Amino acid sequence: MTEQWKAETKAVRGGSEHTEFGENSEAMFLTSSFLFKNAAQAAARFGGNEPGNIYSRFTNPTVTMFQNKLASLEGAEFCVATSSGMSAILSCVMGLCSSGDHIVASRSIFGTSVQLFSNILKRWGLETTFVSLTDTNEWESAIRKNTKLFFVETPSNPLTEVCDISLLANIAHKVGALLVVDNCFCTPILQRPLEMGADIVIHSATKYIDGQGRCLGGAVLGNKNLLEPVYAFLRTAGPTMSAFNAWVFLKGLETLPIRMEAHSKNALELAKWLELQKGVARVYYPGLESHPQHALASKQQKYGGGIVSFEVKGGKDVAWQLIDSTRLISITANLGDVKTTITHPATTTHSRVSPEARAEAGIVDGLVRIAVGLENIEDLKLDLTMLT
Ligand SMILES: *Cc1c(COP(=O)(O)O)cnc(C)c1O
Repeated sequence: MTEQWKAETKAVRGGSEHTEFGENSEAMFLTSSFLFKNAAQAAARFGGNEPGNIYSRFTNPTVTMFQNKLASLEGAEFCVATSSGMSAILSCVMGLCSSGDHIVASRSIFGTSVQLFSNILKRWGLETTFVSLTDTNEWESAIRKNTKLFFVETPSNPLTEVCDISLLANIAHKVGALLVVDNCFCTPILQRPLEMGADIVIHSATKYIDGQGRCLGGAVLGNKNLLEPVYAFLRTAGPTMSAFNAWVFLKGLETLPIRMEAHSKNALELAKWLELQKGVARVYYPGLESHPQHALASKQQKYGGGIVSFEVKGGKDVAWQLIDSTRLISITANLGDVKTTITHPATTTHSRVSPEARAEAGIVDGLVRIAVGLENIEDLKLDLTMLT
């Protein structure tokens, strides 16, 4: 029955389990371990002969409900919840790769993901080649005999470039590699990569899944067999999601469909408005007809999402003046919050990228990123009057 539900119903009802107390709202199970009726039951649980909870590093009922709800929304068989988005990526790689394997990743992935691949995993014998998000020739020529994973984010941060998920999945599958999509910007409400041929979806639940900027968390989703080693890594190494955070995310997921629609509606209106302002040189938003991959984005995503980037005329000084002139919008690098946030990628999220690499990636000094929240759009425009 649950598989036939529409997204809104899955968000509200999916994955819920109730105790003998008959609570209507999903309960938070703050307990590190679970009781056994007797020694024999303890042995059966540990031996895997009886299902049930043992210890919250392995499973916890609140975390399980979160996993099941998110899996139902993504159309995934299995979900492994983690302590953060980064530990979701780490657990995925630790579970599926071994020393000597090779990864191909888009150059325009989250900055910390670049650091993880190029600085940390490299020390453990995992080599990563970075390629253009949109040029499939580069993906094909980067393939080696030992290529295990393709790793991608679409739309990209901050320039909202879009890649064709099913095309990339085909290229990966031809050589026996897996396609991993970090679906943080879209959430399953706007884009379901597994239905387009991707093997694994990653989330930073910290962003839209929470939706109100409270907790860190992450998730890895895909087929149960494929994710067995990812779960084994989590249960052994311990980057587990806490029951408290899972409870916050469970509540966040209930309103995800209406929030994503509202974020996208506000963002599209702001993007269209920005395109008309004197102080703006260029606007990047997949929902705009001027976006180079607007057709692909419209096919692949339900709406454009909440992230709008734009280039101000006058470079870094003007970008900083604009940020400092806001009174309502929060100056912070986080995104996915009901509160609109503004950031200057070149000196924050992408400051560790070399100036040459930044220039090549198109992240110019005049670029500003806004993660559009749920305030009234007229108040947001008023906060950006410096551009008019
Ligand atoms: C924030 C983010 C991450 C990392 O998530 P954390 O929860 O901060 O660890 C990964 N990918 C994308 C696209 C993100 O925006």
